[in-house]
Amino acid sequence: MVRHSSRIELSQSSLSKNINFIRKKVGQGVRISSVVKANAYGHGIDQFVKMAEKAGVDHFATASAFEAEEVLQVKSPDSDVMIMGILYDEDIEWAIEHGIEFYVFNYDRLPLVLEKAKRLEKQAKVHIEVETGANRTGLPAKEFSKTLSFLKKNSGSVKFIGLCTHFGGAESFANLFKIESQHNRYKEFLKQCKQKKVQPEIRHIACSAAALAYKDTVYDMVRIGVAQYGFWPSPDIYYTHLQETGSRSDGALKRIFTWKTDVMDIRNVDAGEFIGYGTAYQATQDMRVAVMPLGYSNGYPRAQSNRGFVLIKGKKAPIVGLINMNLFMVDISHIDEVEVGDEVVLVGRQKNNTINISSFTQVTQLLNNEMLSRLPAAIPRKIVK
Ligand SMILES: *Cc1c(COP(=O)(O)O)cnc(C)c1O
Repeated sequence: MVRHSSRIELSQSSLSKNINFIRKKVGQGVRISSVVKANAYGHGIDQFVKMAEKAGVDHFATASAFEAEEVLQVKSPDSDVMIMGILYDEDIEWAIEHGIEFYVFNYDRLPLVLEKAKRLEKQAKVHIEVETGANRTGLPAKEFSKTLSFLKKNSGSVKFIGLCTHFGGAESFANLFKIESQHNRYKEFLKQCKQKKVQPEIRHIACSAAALAYKDTVYDMVRIGVAQYGFWPSPDIYYTHLQETGSRSDGALKRIFTWKTDVMDIRNVDAGEFIGYGTAYQATQDMRVAVMPLGYSNGYPRAQSNRGFVLIKGKKAPIVGLINMNLFMVDISHIDEVEVGDEVVLVGRQKNNTINISSFTQVTQLLNNEMLSRLPAAIPRKIVK
């Protein structure tokens, strides 16, 4: 197989530290569901699932059936998979057959699930997602009573695994009133379960932000995405943690992801010449420039054009000119003895310098999650210590 133009390294020790930190925060008795939608937030589902299992995780959440299918291929038999979003009618049987848990947010889906479970003579494992105020998916309160009756009557075929909801914006304090209102509505649903004596096995509502900052939202399971990858969901959540611990900074969450490439070519550019397409960059003095073998089609944001930098020999090399589809150039005039093939760090640490995802997102206005989840699946991912 030929070599790809960049590579991603994933640190097992950093992930294990992140999971341990989260486990300590939420309490040992609480199950962690590792959210691996969007190719594990760009980290690579195949590698990441194995790494998470090594760190003690045994539950994985995806947005879709096709992502769950990928998890299924790599997970250990002891781990569970849960689909939080799209599952088409024709794939319900597949989910039941493979013991995959899935969200139900419409009453009308239940009879269909029942029929398929009966035909397969296998229990369907459902989580009822209820509407509490995010108004994306969620079963409305007025359908809940008949839902509970249905689950009670058909418990042999349709197993009521979870009762859940999702907060619309737990990472921002400005949304606190909304989060509280959502939580209160969720408690109303729980009350009905109790009254009707139809109880879910587990209750789960917290994402990373809620799990880290709002202890009362931590029930039997938490669904952790961004934090396990080593990112604080927002400054609000980070500073809440600092306040709790009384410290000035905290490296508890570690980025597990490093993105590297290597120098493709080196050239001298005379003062007055333009670099790359158009007139975006004109050399004001004689320069030495290194060519990078990747561009926006490889996940490197075009908005970094003429901004941002990479690391070569531990030094910052500023981007000069536009990010092309498959190439971009950096200024190495101030870095001695760079050669073709030298390692380049796009995200991560090299000697005493670090490029964080946040240095991209500040420039490009992309979300951390957006930048990561757009990294092409074709980039090879390698697990390192
Ligand atoms: C993405 C997602 C999560 C994880 O969110 P993070 O903020 O990344 O922890 C949890 N629950 C649902 C329903 C989601 O879609």
